[in-house]
Amino acid sequence: MAPEFSLVIPMFNEADGIGALYGRIAPVMDGLGPWEAVCVNDGSRDATLRMLEELRSRDPRIAIVNLSRNFGKEIATTAGLDHARGAAVIVIDADLQDPPEVIPDLVAQWRAGFDMVYAQRRRRDGESWLKRRTAEWFYRLMEHVGRVQLPRDTGDFRLMSRRVVEALRQMREHHRFMKGLFAWVGFPTAAVLYDRAPRHAGRSSWSYWTLWNLAIEGITGFTVMPLKVATYLGLIVALLAVAYAAFVVVKTLILGNPVAGYPSLLTIVLFLGGVQLMTLGVIGEYLGRIFNETKQRPLYFVERYTPSEARVEEVVRLDRVS
Ligand code: UDP
Ligand code: MG
Repeated sequence: MAPEFSLVIPMFNEADGIGALYGRIAPVMDGLGPWEAVCVNDGSRDATLRMLEELRSRDPRIAIVNLSRNFGKEIATTAGLDHARGAAVIVIDADLQDPPEVIPDLVAQWRAGFDMVYAQRRRRDGESWLKRRTAEWFYRLMEHVGRVQLPRDTGDFRLMSRRVVEALRQMREHHRFMKGLFAWVGFPTAAVLYDRAPRHAGRSSWSYWTLWNLAIEGITGFTVMPLKVATYLGLIVALLAVAYAAFVVVKTLILGNPVAGYPSLLTIVLFLGGVQLMTLGVIGEYLGRIFNETKQRPLYFVERYTPSEARVEEVVRLDRVS
């Protein structure tokens, strides 16, 4: 029988934290109902897989999805969702920054009828002022130009009903900005507040550069506004040029034509050159995404899949029937 709850846990070099993670998760989940933990090993270079297999041999409720290489958190999470079977699926980080103790609150909202219950950070411990500010700007930007309303201060830590998971699974785009996809599918949504802890072990693999790229994914994945900016920028510059031309004609008629204006000429040429390159770059960002999506490659490859016990039982039963 399928478990009631599936935890989806993407893992990249999390060997040091697995024991502590299991120690915190198991008691919480045991109090809620039948569960499985779908651990996705996202091409870790440390002992994560070995630790998972060791854990699996002690607790068959652990499922292991071993990806063929590192695909990144977003795709690892997707692989987890594809292999999760619970009626409710909870996505949680492996580094214990998402406290498992919040899960009962998420489940309570789900039982109250909400399909998507996201955990919202009350404050951010252990994160720099700059990281908090840039995150804030990003949410603001997405709110204004994106067509999705992103809930503030949320990560991937959330509970989803089966129908939300099935909806998400239909979206096989390669450039996947999960926060945006979560918001895009809709369905009745509720929030649960919690305090986010600093990382338990290991170190965060997000640098400002990866965050910047994530922001670009978010924006290009949900709005074509940057493409329109080029149109309006061009329009404004053209209008200014006409006005300036008129000014030059009048000035020449009144004051004659002493040859001047070399610095302003150069400035304008360089400025427009820069604007053109930038807008070309924006078009390139979209073009590259079109290129990547049109190849229609699978999102990931599974090197080995060890189902949780719940699933093994069911496979056996199906075999007997056929
Ligand atoms: N992760 C992953 N693949 C990656 C990078 C990260 O599966 O390429 C996992 C990681 O093991 C953790 C979660 O994604 O469970 C969040 O990663 P991290 O703590 O580095 O990010 P942050 O908490 O800073 O958002
Ligand atoms: Mg983390």
